[in-house]
Amino acid sequence: MLNIDLHSHSSCSDGTLTPEQVVARASERGCKVLALTDHDVLLGLPAARKAAIEHGIHFVDGVEVSVSWDGLTIHVVGLNVDPDNAELQQGLASVRSGRMRRAEAMAADLLRAGIADSLPGALAFAGNKDMISRTHFARFLVESGKVKDIKTAFKKYLVKGKPGYVPHQWADLNDVVNWIRNAGGRAVLAHPGRYQIGKARMQRLLVDFKAAGGEAVEVVTSNHTPEHVIQFTRLAAEYELLASCGSDFHGPGEGYADIGRLPDMPGACKPVWHDWAIVN
Ligand code: AMP
Ligand code: MN
Ligand code: MN
Ligand code: MN
Repeated sequence: MLNIDLHSHSSCSDGTLTPEQVVARASERGCKVLALTDHDVLLGLPAARKAAIEHGIHFVDGVEVSVSWDGLTIHVVGLNVDPDNAELQQGLASVRSGRMRRAEAMAADLLRAGIADSLPGALAFAGNKDMISRTHFARFLVESGKVKDIKTAFKKYLVKGKPGYVPHQWADLNDVVNWIRNAGGRAVLAHPGRYQIGKARMQRLLVDFKAAGGEAVEVVTSNHTPEHVIQFTRLAAEYELLASCGSDFHGPGEGYADIGRLPDMPGACKPVWHDWAIVN
């Protein structure tokens, strides 16, 4: 089976490795095709592409965009987007623009819970201050000894109902899929098994995603159980969506899967790369 990973993060968003280090790690671990898909930013793509050429692996320009749909935050990955596309760049800038204000509100809420200085603390972990995220706050909470690991940080803080959570309006689903498509890319619904929604709402999400122009869904991803893989293989077929796979790598030892170590995609899936010249 082809060792392909179409979902990964660098320090340009909330990963811990630089784009070059992500590519080097992918290459070391036998990955032949890699997409860097930083949250809401295209910044790391040129350096990653250059490194991929040096390592002799195929590189796919990607991005993972934060979307608000039906009161829920969902993520849409764009694959093979043109990093120079102005509409996509402007769209992503608009998505990023609220992050610092949200971070200030998160820090104020954490202060009410007795945790001081979390904004400078989180920013110290952010390779790209423009992309300050909950992950950086989680790293600060671990470093300052408030929690033992990232997972606990997201259990005790930063999620709905807990200190440090601030609701946020992300981009519109239709807009995001349009930006991706107009930049020559293919839109992929990221890690659907992670959304806490029932069957009917998942079906509605798939209908809306497809109507917006979405073309694929992640079937194999780090947090999917074997049951999720079966469920989304079926749903992909039912909704005539292509299937993608990616680790959602954020850094060594950060809880998500590592690059190049994903289960194979079920044979019943039609891969999102089925018509890519670089792979076939
Ligand atoms: P943000 O876009 O700032 O809301 O941050 C979202 C990021 O937080 C995701 O991309 C994940 O990297 C991270 N995250 C969210 N929930 C969890 C969790 N339960 N465990 C670990 N990381 C999480
Ligand atoms: Mn992340
Ligand atoms: Mn995501
Ligand atoms: Mn991701």
